[in-house]
Amino acid sequence: MELALLGHGFRYECENLCRLFFPYSPVRVVEGDPLAGGAGVLTEIAETDGGWQYTVKAVWEGRAAAHSETHAALEEYSLTDLLYRTLRELTGITPAWGMLTGIHPVKLLRQYCEELGDAAGMEKFRSRCHVSKDKADLAYRTLRAQRPVVSAMRPRDFCLYVGIPFCPSRCSYCSFVSQSVAQARKLMEPYFALLLEEIARTAEITASLGLTLSGVYIGGGTPTTLTAEQLSALCGAIRQGFDFSRCTEFTVEAGRPDTIDLEKLTALRAAGVTRVSINPQSLSDEVLRAIGRRHTAQAVLDAFALARQAGFTQINCDLIVGLPRDTLAGFRHSLDGVIALGAENVTVHSLALKRSANLITEGGDLSLHARREEVSAMMEYSIARLTETGYQPYYLYRQSRTAGNLENTGWAKPGTVCAYNIHSTDEELTVIACGAGGVTKLKDPSGDTLTRIFNFKYPYEYISRHEELLARKQGIAAFYRDVCKL
Ligand code: SF4
Repeated sequence: MELALLGHGFRYECENLCRLFFPYSPVRVVEGDPLAGGAGVLTEIAETDGGWQYTVKAVWEGRAAAHSETHAALEEYSLTDLLYRTLRELTGITPAWGMLTGIHPVKLLRQYCEELGDAAGMEKFRSRCHVSKDKADLAYRTLRAQRPVVSAMRPRDFCLYVGIPFCPSRCSYCSFVSQSVAQARKLMEPYFALLLEEIARTAEITASLGLTLSGVYIGGGTPTTLTAEQLSALCGAIRQGFDFSRCTEFTVEAGRPDTIDLEKLTALRAAGVTRVSINPQSLSDEVLRAIGRRHTAQAVLDAFALARQAGFTQINCDLIVGLPRDTLAGFRHSLDGVIALGAENVTVHSLALKRSANLITEGGDLSLHARREEVSAMMEYSIARLTETGYQPYYLYRQSRTAGNLENTGWAKPGTVCAYNIHSTDEELTVIACGAGGVTKLKDPSGDTLTRIFNFKYPYEYISRHEELLARKQGIAAFYRDVCKL
């Protein structure tokens, strides 16, 4: 899809809007006339007497749409709004999230509600951004569920994230930097030793600043690729280094049932872990095979039972809508299955296919992208079913290149919200990350400043450049001293 930008520099939003309607046609910004090639978009702003003329023309699969409007001011919104309406007419597609291309719709809604009050904020969210009523309602319910957590934050609070970037095998839709254990076995030991060192150094920094730990999240990858001894040592190092007096939650992703046994779960429980995530993604063996998960649906049920046996009273289950070979009936079966298990938290993701996923690089089954309506029906079913069975949506974010341009939503039974998930998507509280691929996000509690410190992505870089990585951690102290004046 060729895109021309004439008389303006609003490239980023125009590109994103084109991707919203043509997610699998790479957008190429061109100088000449893009309409001649049979699939292109031309955007133009020209100054006129006392105003600005906005023009959008688009052609695609033999169809054409064009609109032109005059506005008093030169502004991005007037152009992107016109572009959105033109592409909607051209394609016949009405995205449920309207023209929102960002990943944090609830954050935007919160901003509008704080400015205008809830009713007018919702009205602005819907009309300005073309968000459907159903999605606006979902965002608003999520916002309301978050309010008690957000208002309980204190200026020195932070969450700790620890990354274990190893998995037993690679799922075909995965774009994370996770490496399979078979590939990276020799890296695991040195990685683990250096991770403990990074945790200890990070704990010294946060203690010297008087920061208070409010939650811990060990994610990945699949942390339960570690042995029971390693899991005990990891949790022990975190407990020893940080002050847990205000820490109310401690989550470990035990995502793949093929990595879970009673010994590991018992070790986690004994180390004070309060929540685990056991992720079926689907309860259909055919779908699990199609996505490269080397376990059965029964293995998920068994792992869940083991977690209960080990004493866990807060268990999350992830599901994905839009998986290859899945159907609406199959998804209903999966969702009803995790509800029947009694999972306290259910997270419903939309399949997002990044370029690095095996499904893309190995030319896998992409027919799911033609199944926009079926995928939307799965998502609608999840919202209705989780609502009627007593779950509330409490965090929500979007990713690019998702099937049906939908969302990922975390649902919780009353009293079981995982605050870390809110903070990590909302970016209103500092999250300090340790481990490969971790991103520390430092948030000024009394302003808008958000500063990121990146750890190296890959385990081999994490190991070979560890001193450099530890030096970067000094940025935490500099941030609190120079920006927050704490
Ligand atoms: S378990 Fe998660 S991180 Fe690991 S390969 Fe599968 S999708 Fe990727």
